[in-house]
Amino acid sequence: MQALKDRIQQEARVEGPDVLKVDNFLNHQVDVNFLNNIGQEFYKRFQGVIVDKILTVEASGIAIACIAAQYFNVPVVFAKKTESKNLDNDCYVSEIHSFTKNKTYKIMVSKRYLQPHERVLVIDDFLANGKAVLGLKEIIRLADADMVGAGIVIEKGFQPGGKELRQAGIRVESLVIVETMQNGQVTFR
Ligand code: 5GP
Repeated sequence: MQALKDRIQQEARVEGPDVLKVDNFLNHQVDVNFLNNIGQEFYKRFQGVIVDKILTVEASGIAIACIAAQYFNVPVVFAKKTESKNLDNDCYVSEIHSFTKNKTYKIMVSKRYLQPHERVLVIDDFLANGKAVLGLKEIIRLADADMVGAGIVIEKGFQPGGKELRQAGIRVESLVIVETMQNGQVTFR
């Protein structure tokens, strides 16, 4: 997706060896018009695939998933990271090791919102080591639903997640794949 590549090259900041910051349009300030193009692109990539529900994880995935869901015309379910009185006791629970925070946390989805045999598309902002997608895949498995693929806005191709997920037979559609991030410069595959 050329417009996304352009935006990354103009606005993203590289932090350390492997973190890309796109707070200007995706992760803090949100450019809704631009997200609309991203949502449309996901719809195009998964054309012909029956999708009953979109699943993501709070917080950054929610905006992207909601805009994409308008094209798929399906509900969005987002996994929660913190227990609260608002959350049903009866949940599917999985774990994710966060790449950016370097800690492991639980993710939870109420059993009310995922049904057996539903066809679920996972959407997330970044793909690094693949733990977030695998955690969501586990929730889908526990619900006895089917994962039809993963739509990722930015895959970092120099990290192992994309390869591992594809080798596991998951259809991964990344709108851009970052090849290198050296000296603050981003190149794409
Ligand atoms: P993974 O689970 O694939 O290792 O990492 C994906 C998750 O970590 C995403 O949900 C995203 O929030 C976060 N993440 C991973 N790499 C980056 C990055 O370079 N920049 C930002 N902003 N988030 C990242």
